[in-house]
Formats: sequence, structure tokens, C-alpha cells
Amino acid sequence: MISPTTTSQTAEFSALPLELPVVETFHSIQGEGVWAGTNAFFIRLAGCDVGCPWCDTKQSWNPKRHSLRTLEGLVAEARSANPEIVVITGGEPLMHELSSLTEQLKAAGLQTHLETSGAHPFSGTFDWVTFSPKRFKPPHASIYAHASELKVVIGDEADLEWAEQQSTQVSSTVAKLLQPEWETPSSRDKVFAYVLKHPQWRVSLQTHKFLGVQ
Ligand code: SF4
Repeated sequence: MISPTTTSQTAEFSALPLELPVVETFHSIQGEGVWAGTNAFFIRLAGCDVGCPWCDTKQSWNPKRHSLRTLEGLVAEARSANPEIVVITGGEPLMHELSSLTEQLKAAGLQTHLETSGAHPFSGTFDWVTFSPKRFKPPHASIYAHASELKVVIGDEADLEWAEQQSTQVSSTVAKLLQPEWETPSSRDKVFAYVLKHPQWRVSLQTHKFLGVQ
């Protein structure tokens, strides 16, 4: 297991919010990446302008369709779940200023993780940052120094080239994972064969989907 890193920065030009639009919260396991299998409370924030054609959370794209929730309420719900980690995901969570939310979560004794495409300026205080860059909206430069793991979804050959290009921009200590695109079965063989030839990469599977849980 790679040791978590602590990272903090405040996004430019963003006021600190007291409320955030939330698609859903739920208690499950982290299904993907280095922390797969870990007891996790998820906060899925609304809003995404990345536009991945295979996105499995398209309902999250328009933040106006989702209710605002207070940061205090989110923190209280997370704490009552008593998880090992709290994962802030989306949508694209970095469309929001995350400093206040993450500082309150940490003040409550919770470990904060982020799942992001990195398409917007970095903000927040995190113990772990899962950086999952998408070709459809390239990352903001601020993400690269904060990545704890690089996780790239692979559908076709171009995605493998994208993964290699992105891997040159993160630290050599960052865990590098390739994840087959769930709706493209052929991508599993591609990822398997690629990792056997390129040992710097590891396979990430969506274990929550195999388990049939959220
Ligand atoms: S970045 Fe995530 S939420 Fe946004 S379109 Fe891509 S997969 Fe969907």
C-alpha cells in the first residue's frame, strides 16, 4: 500500500461555499484503484462539463437539477457512517471550492479522498487524490503535483497513448493504474495485455460493479 499524502491548495477566484449541490451520498466500499475494498462514505457532488461519452453518472452533469446541502449536514452524515475514508466524487468535484468541506471533514477526524478528472483548478485538503484524466477535457495544470494515483479509463488504443502521455506529468512515485471501460468488454483484454508488457502499470477493476453494489 502506498502511503497517503496530504495536499492542500485553494482554488483561485472561488468564494468559500456554505452549501454544495449534491447528487447523492452513500456508504459502500471504494470499488476502484489502490484503495479498492475499503469501507468508504461517498459524497457525489453535482456538476460536470467534461462530457465523457461513456459516463455512467450523466445525471450528475447539471448541478441545477440537484439540491443544495449544507457542509455541516454532509459532515455529520459522513461521521455517523463511521467510514475508513470519505470520498468526494462527482460529477467533477473540482468545479466547486472544496477547502471548507474538506477542512470540516478533517476536523471531524475523517480521512478525505478525492476522485477527479483534474479539469478545474485544485482546491481542498486531501489525504489521497485519485487523478483520472479524460481526453474530452484536458486537466488543469494544478492537479499534477497533487495526484496520489493516476487512474486512466481505457476503451481503445488512443486511451493507452493518453495514459502514457499523462504519466509523464506526475511524480514517479504516483501509482499508475489502467481501468477497463465497463461497457467495452474488449478493453479488459487490452488492459491485461498492456500491463503484462508495461510493468509500471497496474490493473484497476470496478469491484463494486462485480459485487452488484453502489
Ligand atoms: S468526468 Fe466523470 S462525471 Fe464527468 S463526464 Fe467524465 S466520467 Fe462522467
